[in-house]
Amino acid sequence: MIKHLRACNEIAQRAVRRGHHPFGAILVAPDHEEVLLTQGNVSVIRHAESELARKAADLYTASYLWDCTLVSTLEPCAMCAGTQYWANIGRLVYGVAETKLHELTGSDERNPTLSLPSRSVLDSGQKGIQVFGPFPEVEVEIIAPHLDFWNT
Ligand SMILES: [Zn+2]
Repeated sequence: MIKHLRACNEIAQRAVRRGHHPFGAILVAPDHEEVLLTQGNVSVIRHAESELARKAADLYTASYLWDCTLVSTLEPCAMCAGTQYWANIGRLVYGVAETKLHELTGSDERNPTLSLPSRSVLDSGQKGIQVFGPFPEVEVEIIAPHLDFWNT
């Protein structure tokens, strides 16, 4: 999954070049190889992961998505984890924990980071979505586009 996390990070960096926040997400097929969708951050409310999950739900069946993986640079917020839940995407992989993001964004009003882990949101449901992360081996590169981005 490390290569998919790196692909997400390229999308996050592209989002910044386009004037958005440094977040990226991709949808990986059941074979754990093919990338079906990519999505960067759109705005303070249109996050990469929730936008991706909504597109996925429009394009694929719930039963197919159950065998897919949502890969995200940072741990998804409660809104995005909830959208993944309703989209029925059965696996989540994220690179860096939300607690680390909170350290990076501080009190920046563009991203008043929640303190509610994805596992807490998803474990509150009835589906048993699998969660993998964080991955310390990619932390430095995923954090890089966040340094000097937020007004802390
Ligand atoms: Zn989010």
